[in-house]
Amino acid sequence: MDKIYLKKIILSYNDICNLLTELLNNKKFHNRLKKENTTCYTNFKYPLNSYCIGNGEKHVVIFSNTHGCEIITPFFVLEFILTLILNDEIYCNFSKKYTFHFIPLLNPEGYIISSSQVYYNLKNFDKKSIQKISKIYLDSYNLDDKIASKNIKKEKLYKSILATSCNLIENKNMIYSVNKILKNCNLNSSILPVWSANGVGIDPNSNSIHKFPEMIDLRKKWKYSKLRYNDIPVTIPSPMSYPGKKSLDPLCPENIFLYKYINNLYFNLPKFNQKLIAIFSYHSTGGEIYGYPDKCIASKNNIELHNKAIDIYSKKTNYTPIDENLKYGVMDFYRAYLNNVVSLTIELSKLNGNPIGPFANLDSLFEEFINNKKAILSVISNI
Ligand SMILES: [Zn+2]
Repeated sequence: MDKIYLKKIILSYNDICNLLTELLNNKKFHNRLKKENTTCYTNFKYPLNSYCIGNGEKHVVIFSNTHGCEIITPFFVLEFILTLILNDEIYCNFSKKYTFHFIPLLNPEGYIISSSQVYYNLKNFDKKSIQKISKIYLDSYNLDDKIASKNIKKEKLYKSILATSCNLIENKNMIYSVNKILKNCNLNSSILPVWSANGVGIDPNSNSIHKFPEMIDLRKKWKYSKLRYNDIPVTIPSPMSYPGKKSLDPLCPENIFLYKYINNLYFNLPKFNQKLIAIFSYHSTGGEIYGYPDKCIASKNNIELHNKAIDIYSKKTNYTPIDENLKYGVMDFYRAYLNNVVSLTIELSKLNGNPIGPFANLDSLFEEFINNKKAILSVISNI
């Protein structure tokens, strides 16, 4: 529990797929990690894969990489998977009581677009060099925020740190789509490292399920993303925050997949003994916890349950619980409408600056990962 198992820090899409395949095929862990049937694919035909560990009555969903550029989140989920299957004691303790379901890459297209840029720049770097360039990136990024907060519009400093190109994306159809989006948004390839959306420019987190008209209104008021991203449009397909044309937009298969996946666990498990108890969604900015359900929708029990879970999670991680005014996002739907299912959105990393800012201090990032692993197990053991 108190260590980090992954040796490689900068993971390409293929690295993640290969690691999971290796764990599935390795006879030692063969029966520990299982792949679930893939039924959904992204617009550019990448599989939306899910995996599970354990066969207990209480079901827990852990997913990451809703936003492509949040590359530390699949790293964390892989770490959690490795922690469970490589430790006999932890595995035996938790696999009998719980069934863990994992979606390490909810947005493989976004991951490929962002991580291919990072991979190209950092793939041969050692730990020290990764931290060094990440610190420069983080400092530029923070300075961009400062400048933008004074309402000054100028070319962003973070864009000059990494070499970028659409041709690093290994999929011709996706390159075509990304190029088209960049052109329509009046942007160039320097924006690719912060790409959050899917390959057709829809942000799966903004594709609100229950408050889509409100989300559209909100985006109209914004027009552009905030602060350092104030050159990125949000009302047309773009690198971030565009919600799509309608709720569960067919061009956002990532969100439809998640909806079906969670509904299936909530409604279709054998009622007499199986139950979905928690959902953890991982993002990566600022060390925050979003988990207070909308008081107008959620039952009193559900609100109390979430309060308790947030309390436990924040004690273990020292992350800050945020009770935001606007609860329009995709996870807000689950935490308000699924009764007695703790649904938390966790912003990993007290640093910001996706995709590589969080790597500026690897020791503290890894310490946070270890605390988050403990926080998940503590929440599910105490609710
Ligand atoms: Zn995010």
